[in-house]
Amino acid sequence: MIRKIVQTGNPVLRQVAEQVDVDDIGTKALNKLIDDMIETMRKAPGVGLAAPQIGESLQLCVLEDREELLETLDEDYVSERKRTAVPLTVLINPTIEPVGDGRIAFYEGCLSISGYAAITERWEGVHVRALDREGKPIELRWKGWPARILQHEIDHLNGMLYVDHMDTRTFTDTNELPD
Ligand code: ZN
Repeated sequence: MIRKIVQTGNPVLRQVAEQVDVDDIGTKALNKLIDDMIETMRKAPGVGLAAPQIGESLQLCVLEDREELLETLDEDYVSERKRTAVPLTVLINPTIEPVGDGRIAFYEGCLSISGYAAITERWEGVHVRALDREGKPIELRWKGWPARILQHEIDHLNGMLYVDHMDTRTFTDTNELPD
């Protein structure tokens, strides 16, 4: 089921989300929520969605950047951003830490701040530990655009939005984005 994506100003986006109870992993209810999130992310379309964005204050997010979508984008745009395909990934109770001290700045947007973007600095690489939808521990060590997606989604689980890190003078209506 496609769920409504809440917009900035909704208090749920500013709460630290609750840990998912490990006993709930694998239950019908949690699997339904995860499937709704995947469907909602794909429909938007977006490359990530965190549970608070559909009004559920839980440490849970989904990510996916599909090859078919990347093929429709300008090659230089994709390579400059080190944007590579991300398989469908479900993260429960993730923790994140930077790898190295490289920082990269690009325009970034959010499905919960619809119609806007701003230059936002992020770590070049990150290391994430989480549980997958079956409750198995997973570790990701990603860099480039996939690392940006991870930072953006995990921020949502901690009540943060990209506007907290953005270069405020670059805040832009998406129709006004430079090429
Ligand atoms: Zn977002």
